[in-house]
Amino acid sequence: MKFNPANNIQDLQYFGEFGGVNPSISDSSTYTFISAKTMLDTFEGNTDGCYLYSRHSTPSNLYLGEALAAMEGAEAANVASSGMGAITPTILQICGHGDHVVSSRTIYGGTYAFLKNFTPRMGIETTFVDITKLNAVEAAITPTTKIIYCESVSNPLLEVADIKALSVLAKKYNLKLIVDNTFSPLSISPVQLGADIVIHSLTKFINGSSDSMGGVVCGTSEFVNSLKSVIDGASMLLGASMDSLRSSSILKNMRTLHIRIKQHSMNAAFLANKFEKEGLKTIYPGLESHPSHALFKTMMNVDYGFGGMLTVDAGSLEKANALMEVMQEKNIGYLAVSLGFYKTLFSAPGTSTSSEIPEDERKEMGLSEGLIRFSIGLDNDIERTYKIMKTCMLEVGVL
Ligand SMILES: *Cc1c(COP(=O)(O)O)cnc(C)c1O
Repeated sequence: MKFNPANNIQDLQYFGEFGGVNPSISDSSTYTFISAKTMLDTFEGNTDGCYLYSRHSTPSNLYLGEALAAMEGAEAANVASSGMGAITPTILQICGHGDHVVSSRTIYGGTYAFLKNFTPRMGIETTFVDITKLNAVEAAITPTTKIIYCESVSNPLLEVADIKALSVLAKKYNLKLIVDNTFSPLSISPVQLGADIVIHSLTKFINGSSDSMGGVVCGTSEFVNSLKSVIDGASMLLGASMDSLRSSSILKNMRTLHIRIKQHSMNAAFLANKFEKEGLKTIYPGLESHPSHALFKTMMNVDYGFGGMLTVDAGSLEKANALMEVMQEKNIGYLAVSLGFYKTLFSAPGTSTSSEIPEDERKEMGLSEGLIRFSIGLDNDIERTYKIMKTCMLEVGVL
């Protein structure tokens, strides 16, 4: 049977305490025990269905984690208070002093800064590679390498990782393949393609209303439990736990994710085609001109399209800034970082989300100054949006 992540979410059934159609929110930080012996067993991790303290787990967090694990087809998942709150403990759970990471060089700025500037303080070194060059990935692997880290569709250049091929490499060298799937939920299912661990920032498409932060780590039950261990679990001990009120609201938003992703993808594909025809340098995995278009097609769950992210090169930072300001004035969207909102969001990564990456490295990876990253919104009338965008582009001389 074909893997269908939206069906997996749809088929979950949780009732609330009084027969409510939504699960009850557990509005407590701590939990009572009838017997003192059960408390000890729970501390030692021997009791299922018993809650101890909300940094460890809560019913609401477990519901959301189950839904996300179902979406990815993973055994288990652990939610966190942000995407970085999912990424950093995952890396630290696997790597210690003397260990090595092979990472894509085009990744989220925060992840890049963590691997480049922060983990070396703990004796963890990272080699950054062009993830689309498998021989470069393999050549970077050393006897101390523990992780291959990448994003399925990378931020902001929308490079596509060949997850199947990377997972073959990971197995050959006994490494964990970690894939950040934030840009392509539903469209790509990395666990189905061989990834060991899948991470999302829930802050983006999955929650989709730009009102909450959240993150998740999906993987084997063994790994997810290790993150939550009271003895040496990085999630438990570093403490980026999600609040139950947040997890219950993100779970409700997840139920419309498939509808939103289809609309984001349809709108982004429409605009990308138009921009390219106008002669603008446009990057979108759904365009045949995208170097990994064919690869994306072999990996995707076709119902959900190529995603809502695209980039356009405005030619210079001045033009990019002028265009973004005019588009905001005309209410086409907002000049803001982040993604997955009902409105289109745009920013120039070179001076915002990727400014952690030094200028010479940005140049080398093709992250030009005039690059604008768009998270295309849920616009009902994308032709109207396009017409207004075009007048903005003509006004500032991008067209
Ligand atoms: C935003 C983002 C993150 C970080 O998530 P937060 O929720 O902001 O902590 C990680 N990876 C990608 C690809 C992102 O876009």
